[in-house]
Amino acid sequence: MLDADFFRRWMTAAAAAVDREADRLTELDSPIGDADHGSNLKRGFTAVREVVEAEAPETPGAVLTLAGRQLISKVGGASGPLYGTLLRRTGKALGDAAEVSQPELAEALRAGVAAVAQLGGAAAGDKTMLDALIPAADALDESFDVARAAAEKGALATTPMQARKGRASYLGERSIGHQDPGATSSALLIAALAEVAGG
Ligand code: ADP
Ligand code: MG
Repeated sequence: MLDADFFRRWMTAAAAAVDREADRLTELDSPIGDADHGSNLKRGFTAVREVVEAEAPETPGAVLTLAGRQLISKVGGASGPLYGTLLRRTGKALGDAAEVSQPELAEALRAGVAAVAQLGGAAAGDKTMLDALIPAADALDESFDVARAAAEKGALATTPMQARKGRASYLGERSIGHQDPGATSSALLIAALAEVAGG
């Protein structure tokens, strides 16, 4: 079973991964965006780490809803509200249980991913974070490592896609041939989850 401490460690590991990879995320956002994805997420997840440590929410659902609210208030641009919605909606789906099972987390994450799709109007294949998140949430029924692999594969698969949502879509066919920054950061988020589950 996964308790609040597990979810706090997930957010801390996600913040560390975003710190480590911020330059790469910004580099990916320069040919098909405005070169701010790394700095956006770094600001957001630094705030998440701080608030989660300071307030130490006592349930898995409370950790994720607090983290989501923080992302929405601290990150401008498309990705703040989208990632904020992902975590908030996933947290809400977990309810107020003190511990949740892996299948319960998988189901809650699918509710979070569906809320992202609804908010942003994107679907699989549109070259967004959903291309990593949808396969990861589906694979999480199997294992954390399978989910991590699915997210990484999903992020790589965005390269040949033409963007149909977000800033990259303004480039039309010129968005083809570049990996999507948001799908890449989503793969980091899932990798942080697998890391915490494995260690
Ligand atoms: P901005 O595009 O406002 O500069 P970021 O650079 O932080 O915001 O985030 C860009 C990422 O957000 C994209 O790579 C993409 O994955 C994701 N994104 C943008 N629009 C959408 C959308 N409508 N639905 C899902 N994800 C989206
Ligand atoms: Mg950007």
